[in-house]
Amino acid sequence: MPPAKKLKILFVTSEVVPFIKTGGLADVSSALPQKLQELGHLIRIVVPKYGAIDERKFKIHEVVRLKDLTTKIGNKEVVFSLRSSFLIGQKARVQIYFLDNPEYFGMRHSLYSDPITGKDYADNDERFILLAKSVFALINKLGWVPDVIHCNDWQGGLIPAYLKTLQKEDETLKTIKTLFTVHNLGYQGEYGKSTFAKTGLPDKLNSETGILQNGKVNFLKAGLQFADFINTVSESYAKEICSDDGFSNGLKDVLAKRKKDVFGIINGIDTLIWNPEKDKIIAKKYSAKTLEDKLVNKKSLSEKFGLKYEPNVPLLGMISRLEDSKGFDLIQKTFKELMGMNIKLIVLGTGDRKYHKFFEEALFKHKGKFACYLGFDDGLAHFIEAGSDIFLMPSLYEPCGLNQMYSLVYGTVPLVRDTGGLADTVQRFKESDGTGNGFSFKKYTETEFLKELKHAIKIYTNDKKTWTKIQKNGMKSNFTWLNSSKNYIELYKKLVAS
Ligand code: ADP
Repeated sequence: MPPAKKLKILFVTSEVVPFIKTGGLADVSSALPQKLQELGHLIRIVVPKYGAIDERKFKIHEVVRLKDLTTKIGNKEVVFSLRSSFLIGQKARVQIYFLDNPEYFGMRHSLYSDPITGKDYADNDERFILLAKSVFALINKLGWVPDVIHCNDWQGGLIPAYLKTLQKEDETLKTIKTLFTVHNLGYQGEYGKSTFAKTGLPDKLNSETGILQNGKVNFLKAGLQFADFINTVSESYAKEICSDDGFSNGLKDVLAKRKKDVFGIINGIDTLIWNPEKDKIIAKKYSAKTLEDKLVNKKSLSEKFGLKYEPNVPLLGMISRLEDSKGFDLIQKTFKELMGMNIKLIVLGTGDRKYHKFFEEALFKHKGKFACYLGFDDGLAHFIEAGSDIFLMPSLYEPCGLNQMYSLVYGTVPLVRDTGGLADTVQRFKESDGTGNGFSFKKYTETEFLKELKHAIKIYTNDKKTWTKIQKNGMKSNFTWLNSSKNYIELYKKLVAS
């Protein structure tokens, strides 16, 4: 048999662990390329070099051929370079290119918004036009022509549009296919009409049948219109966005037209990082066989957050961006009732100022029952996963979600809303046959959420044997990137053959 063809994939993203992260996209952008390379494929990554990325630590160096390149954004001549380094994992070493431009990226610490005002940077359109344009410069200068450009989220949305329009006549690029992965349809990269001229795209796209959506230039829509294939990060979310107005954020018609090209592939988790048997951060490693050691972590977590350690009182954890879509309005509305229950709650998160304010006030009002850290802290995330009994994720929608998967493998029983990736990974426990690995509720209401939480707490308090069974059911899960990567490889192959 001839050896299987090695696929060449150029993976374009706006964040990658360990360089820079605001959310799950960064985890995916690190784990998936590494696994693809381990499986024998040729993969390279492109990401902006934000000020927060430590160039010395990551040995980011110049590439003569990729230095001081120029492009136009509207009438503005922009100089940029692509610098090189490696994403070094346990088994893979993936080539990564950093898009370097001090004005747009290097001189700013944050990724998308001003940390002081919390507002998106006013020139995000130009910043991600540059990212899209840099990709073609990279391919041409290197002469490394990928089979697939794998674009992610609205920040990569213009790439498929450029390939099919401005770059159409470029012989080098003729064979390239694009996959556009939507990690979250809620973020679309929408800009006023003046942005259109900056994109340089043909005038006929300056319309609702082009890349305008409700009168605004919409980068995500550009990706949805022009990518050869589209996928989202769970099968349920893929179905939800194509069929349900509540999930499609106004893009239902666009998606409906592309329905046959829309796929769902659930993310994996990085089991070298998120594994209670190997986790170097937590107080004590444990497995399904040594679950009693999870209590050492509960004690340590409680103490870290200044809560009294009470082994039999359920400790609830949350780690999330503080956004409405993550279910924080439900938490806020039911907070009084939650604090009246025999529980403790720890929240780790940052985001919407209104929730910062709410939780800061709650800290004083409910000392001893509630604790939080309103910032981003990876170490604390590990402590919470290991030390909590129940993990709350009552999201309004959830494209995939990672924390419910981490929770499952840490024996921290997730309580989720039955939507998107949560529905695909958490099965409600069934007392009748002992199957299921967590708790879930359907309707996004306070009543349903509290009802399910009370049900979970009742089992936790009165029936330890059943609780342990639920924990162990979760700990058996196999969310490795190997499974997800194989699905991506199948999709790339289908794409290349299309
Ligand atoms: P999303 O990408 O929508 O934010 P996911 O559940 O897919 O949600 O991924 C979120 C990732 O970011 C997880 O790895 C989670 O642990 C991490 N995370 C979110 N907020 C924080 C925080 N405040 N501190 C540390 N890690 C966080």
